[in-house]
Amino acid sequence: MKNKVITAAAVLCATVLVAIIAFDFFMSASFSSSFIAMNTTVSADIKGLKAEEAYREISEELKWLDSFLLSRTSEESQIYKLNNGKTDIDPEPAKLLSSIKDIEEKSNFSFCVGLGQLTDLWGIGTGSARLPRADEISSAIKDAEKWQISGNTVDLPDGVKLDLGAAGKGIGCDYASDILQKYKCKSAVVAVGGSVLLHSTDKDEVFTIGIRNPKGDINEPAAIIEIKACCVSTSGTYERFFEQDGKRYHHIFDPSTGYPAKSGLQSVTVISSSGLVSDALSTACLVLGFEESLPLLKEFDAQAVFITDENKVMTTPDFEGLKIADSNFTLVN
Ligand code: ADP
Ligand code: MG
Repeated sequence: MKNKVITAAAVLCATVLVAIIAFDFFMSASFSSSFIAMNTTVSADIKGLKAEEAYREISEELKWLDSFLLSRTSEESQIYKLNNGKTDIDPEPAKLLSSIKDIEEKSNFSFCVGLGQLTDLWGIGTGSARLPRADEISSAIKDAEKWQISGNTVDLPDGVKLDLGAAGKGIGCDYASDILQKYKCKSAVVAVGGSVLLHSTDKDEVFTIGIRNPKGDINEPAAIIEIKACCVSTSGTYERFFEQDGKRYHHIFDPSTGYPAKSGLQSVTVISSSGLVSDALSTACLVLGFEESLPLLKEFDAQAVFITDENKVMTTPDFEGLKIADSNFTLVN
């Protein structure tokens, strides 16, 4: 009798052990791949029992988000339709546009998605980039801030076109985050161009992220940051630009002048729990410059790393976990 009890207990222990090992094995199952959406490469490295299913859904969802909500060029997209005379939109993009309007206002319109006419005019990154005349620029920025959203109705002043290029990749990270949670993925890194989602069910997991040397190769970090699950977006003057008469014109505009921002910064990396906030604020801060960005970042409970034109690296107060990786850069706070 006693022997039987011992045998039964041993079998139970072995079963539990096998179950634990199997659970661990499946939870550490992983899937990595990449696809194209939002005019960029989206790469995902996912760990968890349903890593591959999560990847497939992220891929479908981000392509849908691009084609049916955010794209300026897809005729099916809600933004395309607004830019071409429609005034009513679905509740989902309406919610996004309300959040965007809030960020525009709090950033004092240094982030402004009403700049579609201006980005078309400059054409940076299109192959037909040019330096527009001053009168063309002033007419393209006129009323850009004045678009409004109320409920599901959007009002675009005459000549104003929406361009969500500075927010779309961050929004993509937020959509990806929901899917990773739905599939109970253990850990993941999803990079949507310059916006990266760091996901983990372990609140203590630390991710190491490189901040690119603005004048170097993509794999040459100027600095390294160690952070827990969040969204990280970088806006840099090196991403897209053209040169004319020895002058460089980049793709992030100061909405108050209509010219490429000149804030003394080469790049800003913003860390936030929200992809939309990190993406939008990285653009806003690149326009505002270091000092003026600090209250905005505080308002959104976000942190940031700035790289100045002189290769100085600055962070928001109390930001820990940054190490300089290239001796051409100096940490100054
Ligand atoms: P990237 O697209 O390189 O990741 P950003 O997120 O900063 O960089 O977005 C830049 C894009 O956003 C530009 O290509 C343009 O379409 C648009 N844009 C430029 N300046 C602004 C601005 N001040 N506010 C909002 N959108 C902007
Ligand atoms: Mg941005």
